[in-house]
Amino acid sequence: MPETEQGVFKHFPTDFRGELLRPRDPGYTAARAIFNMHDGGATPALIARAADERDVLAVTRFATETGTPLAVRAGGHGVDGTAMPDGALVLDLTALKAIDVDRATGVVRLGAGVLLGEMDSALEKYELAVPAGTVSTTGVAGLTLGGGVGYNMRRYGATVDSLLSCDVVTLDGRRVRASEQENPDLFWALRGGGGNFGVVTGLEFQARPMSRQVAAGFIPFPLAHAPEVLAALREHMPTAPRELSVIAALTECPPLPPLPVEHHGADALMLIVVYTGPADRTEAVTDALAALGPAIAKLIAPVPWSAANSMLDVIAPLGRRVYTKGAYLSGLGDDVIDLTVRHAAGHLPQADPPLPSTVQNLWAMGGAISEDFAEDSTAFSREGTVWFWEAVTQWDRPEDDKGFHDWVDALYADLRPHARDNCYVNLTTDMGPEWRRGVWGSPEKYARLVQAKTTWDPQNLLRFNKNIEPLGSS
Ligand SMILES: Cc1cc2nc3c(=O)[nH]c(=O)nc-3n(C[C@H](O)[C@H](O)[C@H](O)COP(=O)(O)OP(=O)(O)OC[C@H]3O[C@@H](n4cnc5c(N)ncnc54)[C@H](O)[C@@H]3O)c2cc1C
Repeated sequence: MPETEQGVFKHFPTDFRGELLRPRDPGYTAARAIFNMHDGGATPALIARAADERDVLAVTRFATETGTPLAVRAGGHGVDGTAMPDGALVLDLTALKAIDVDRATGVVRLGAGVLLGEMDSALEKYELAVPAGTVSTTGVAGLTLGGGVGYNMRRYGATVDSLLSCDVVTLDGRRVRASEQENPDLFWALRGGGGNFGVVTGLEFQARPMSRQVAAGFIPFPLAHAPEVLAALREHMPTAPRELSVIAALTECPPLPPLPVEHHGADALMLIVVYTGPADRTEAVTDALAALGPAIAKLIAPVPWSAANSMLDVIAPLGRRVYTKGAYLSGLGDDVIDLTVRHAAGHLPQADPPLPSTVQNLWAMGGAISEDFAEDSTAFSREGTVWFWEAVTQWDRPEDDKGFHDWVDALYADLRPHARDNCYVNLTTDMGPEWRRGVWGSPEKYARLVQAKTTWDPQNLLRFNKNIEPLGSS
């Protein structure tokens, strides 16, 4: 039994009503499973699965009184795996599943344990959606606290641009609301500053109109044609409708039956396409993408919104070893295209490949996320960004750790001179204190985040995150 459990944890609040899971308990193994099981997964000392907000208050007060650092788990999709640190006290919010939709106003209130797919299903019957991410098993809470980008960002902005308020349990054991009117400094910091400032138990959004049926799918091209297709896509996106989302993925062609068998598993450029505009425009909008080069096929079909927003779930199971890096790009120059395609050709295949092991995604920004909201309106940074690049690797065998880390690091080193200093914190691994000072966009924004951290978490108990250190802590 870890020292911490023998000592501090034996005084754990007796009025805690949820589940307490220690390493020896049934259910612990399932509870500790998260997306990034680097090193085979961590062994937290205690996972406290809150039954309700009172439990969150009890655990938070206990952490403050005992000076115990507190990890927070919502959807478990954090790319650094900070929700489950070794030897730590973890506050698990997965049971906070309430969803309340006001159909008349389109305002939706969600508990912090709600996943994107659960939110989509609750809203689509009213022809509504909150702009969020692309994998339905991601937690709404963690995604929103970092910013939130996805298929609707060009149409409606980032997830934080639709956030109206948060219910927050503070480190001094209070329940407060954060909105433009109440605790606005906290509300600003929560919209992009991550889980640094308090435990968010509920989120309130303004949902946006969304057709029940949208168009979604893939347009694959052979990797040999990726340079010309990416160059054409660069010219095409500024004139494309805001309802069109394109992620250009340098990866392996999936073994889908409609695709000729010689392309299965071959290196490819896959355009991941979602179009949420008028149905009678779908053909023209997607034909224009297929005409950017010699497409292998155009696999785009009408589907319900929730199906579009979960089509990538299959490539993102929980429990693998993961390493990822991301960067904002001011443009997609020929030099960037060359280097990303070159590294794609030299990527590492997996030993036993049920799923692609490496992917570079180039997300087309522009539209609402870039043009409709000021950089300083939220802690989430977007300034100057035309493309978001990320490299994601997933594998299973410990002996492959070094190979995948080296592949990502070499690629990032080549890309870094072309990257901006600001970035999207949720879709990259933490790159250290110097990087964190620039990632939110400017020294003024970082100073504002440090001030909020100093006010709301002066002991830095919430440190398992892209950490912002409070003043006076070092
Ligand atoms: C497969 C996959 C696909 C993704 N796709 C997208 C995408 O399309 N768009 C996008 O924007 N992002 C995407 N992400 C990134 C995702 O937004 C972040 O990883 C996010 O942190 C996940 O939130 P979570 O609640 O699932 O994770 P968790 O691991 O539970 O939380 C991550 C961290 O957030 C903090 N946190 C979470 N909840 C709270 C809370 N209620 N109060 C205080 N702190 C909290 C904690 O510090 C925690 O360590 C993806 C990630 C993965 C793994």
